[in-house]
Parts: sequence; structure tokens; C-alpha cells
Amino acid sequence: MFSPAEIQVISQAVEIAEDVTANYFKISTAQWKHVRYDIRTLAELSPDEIADYAFAQIIRYSGKPDLSRQRHYDYFKICLQDQNIIAAVERDQGVKLLPLGVYVVTHELVHIVRFCKFLQRFDAEPLERQQEEMRVHEITQGVLGSLRLPQLNYVLEVYGDYQFMEQLKDHKLATLA
Ligand SMILES: [Zn+2]
Repeated sequence: MFSPAEIQVISQAVEIAEDVTANYFKISTAQWKHVRYDIRTLAELSPDEIADYAFAQIIRYSGKPDLSRQRHYDYFKICLQDQNIIAAVERDQGVKLLPLGVYVVTHELVHIVRFCKFLQRFDAEPLERQQEEMRVHEITQGVLGSLRLPQLNYVLEVYGDYQFMEQLKDHKLATLA
């Protein structure tokens, strides 16, 4: 699990990632508030939100929150997998937590933006999902291309086309009567 000091680094990474992603997609602060997602770390995850090997797990919670609301509701929870992120940092001296955190969160936010814009289907077939993953890797490189952050280039080199960025899980919410 992330230590309190590591949580601070991750918070900073989230701030940077949100900033560069919103800029890249030209999403204003007001519009960004409508993108429904949350980012949580291991301490706040339930057992079924924990993934074995990926850096993150995106869970889509969808349903109708109550009977009065007609609109379908999607909400994405980005569950960061502390244990796998820490393992990557411990495995390779050149991989630092801040640039890796920025990289992982930016990649996941690119997915979220694409889900929200209906450019990507959450429940895509494996082949489509694989193609989308390559696209998201490419876009992420573009989003981070102009960001000047020590050792980010190394992270991009090592994880630029990593196959285990995230797992996706769908969770249908029961309608609350
Ligand atoms: Zn991905």
C-alpha cells in the first residue's frame, strides 16, 4: 500500500494528469466537472476492486440511481493498484513514482474521456479492445509529449506499449426504489 508520502506524490501526479488531459482534449474546467470519475488507491478499495497484475482497474458503475431519474447513469472508478505500481518502481531504478503515476493516471483518463465521448465502448470485444489500447497508448504519448517532467521519457520508453495498464470491470447498480 502507498505510504502517506507516496500518497502525496500520487496526488500531485493526479493533478498533473488531469491538467494535461483536459488541455489536450480542450475540455474546460466547467466541462471537466461533468466527467464522472473518481480516483482511489488501495486503502479505499473493496476486495473485488483489486487487480492481480495491472496498474489500475477501471470499474464502470452504471444504472439508474433512483426511479425518478430517467437518465442512465455511468460513473467510472479508477482504482489504482498501489502494489503493482510500487513493484514497478522497485523493479527498475530508473522508474520513479511521480512520472509513473502521471503516466498511469493520464492513460486511464484518456480512456475515461473516450468512454464519455462514446469513442470507445466499455464492453468491446477483445480484438477491438486491443486496438483501442494501442490507440490510447498513442494518444497518451501525445498528451504527455510536451510535459517536462524528470524521468518521464524513461517511463514512456519502458511502458509506452505496456499490455497490462488496466483491467476493466462492469458493475450494474441496482435501482434504488
Ligand atoms: Zn488502457
